Amino acid sequence: MPRIERLEALYEALAAIQRSGREELAPSLSLSAGAVYPEALKVAAKYGLRDTDLLEELAELGALEKLPHESLVACPKCGSIRLLSKLRCPNCGSENLKKVSIVAHTTCGGINTVDEDARNPRCSKCGKPLTEVTVIGRLYQCLSCGARFETPLPAYKCADCGHAFDYREARYATVYKYRVKRENLESVAKKLLTEIAREVAAAEGFKIEAAAQVRGASGFQHTVDLTLTRGGEAIHVDVVAETPRAMSETLASLAKTPDLQSKHIVLAPKSVESGVQRLGRGNVVTYSDARELEEKLRQVLRGEKAGKRPASASSP
Ligand SMILES: [Zn+2]
Ligand SMILES: [Zn+2]
Ligand SMILES: [Zn+2]
Repeated sequence: MPRIERLEALYEALAAIQRSGREELAPSLSLSAGAVYPEALKVAAKYGLRDTDLLEELAELGALEKLPHESLVACPKCGSIRLLSKLRCPNCGSENLKKVSIVAHTTCGGINTVDEDARNPRCSKCGKPLTEVTVIGRLYQCLSCGARFETPLPAYKCADCGHAFDYREARYATVYKYRVKRENLESVAKKLLTEIAREVAAAEGFKIEAAAQVRGASGFQHTVDLTLTRGGEAIHVDVVAETPRAMSETLASLAKTPDLQSKHIVLAPKSVESGVQRLGRGNVVTYSDARELEEKLRQVLRGEKAGKRPASASSP
């Protein structure tokens, strides 16, 4: 998968998590699908990725914190959690066990070993039906070797690949949940969008400087998110993420435009469009999602490359 597509998937997953308002992304566990994270599943399916891959990467970027949720036995061969539970004899490994109860006959005190599924058992001491008994203990008896034991060994058979295994071979998998680090979502969103812009510019043959310091006509320094250069011509790009402060951040970026001595593009969310239109500023490129940001920026940069030079908004 091209890196730009992966970045777009991450941005979309992040936006979906933000919209969901969830504090925590816990998996829904089902035998048919395993552990699934509903908030990331749709985007993951759209891009042909695994939901956990998206969440892992968002955790690495600082948008999520990965925490243990629960632990499950899984098949060591295929990883499935669809398992049939079995018990084995600790002496010979046979699965051929029966469960027996040791009971005392209340009326005569006789001690009897009774099959759990025996019907109408009788007392071995007095011969009367064992109707009133005190259970002393429960044991397993191995029908292969005859051993009796209290604790059989747990074992499993995978319902998907058929592999039979015991606790020693079993994979014991931790399923994770992800805490949403709300305080970081906006900065991670901006980072992803900036990376997408950088990929577009690189593909169009521009040299890129990130967080560039640019000297304005006034002599003062400005910081812009990206400065793209190609053939001696520079384009400055600022990226505004979708946040409640998007309008104010767009205006702050636009305030640099008159002082910058090259073309200045502000990539801003659709939500600020009407506000910006009222200002009549032509250097704001709005996006509704990461894909649109990619496409519109490519158009703008191709316009530059072809030598079509639309009136730069940085000229007075
Ligand atoms: Zn045995
Ligand atoms: Zn008895
Ligand atoms: Zn399996």
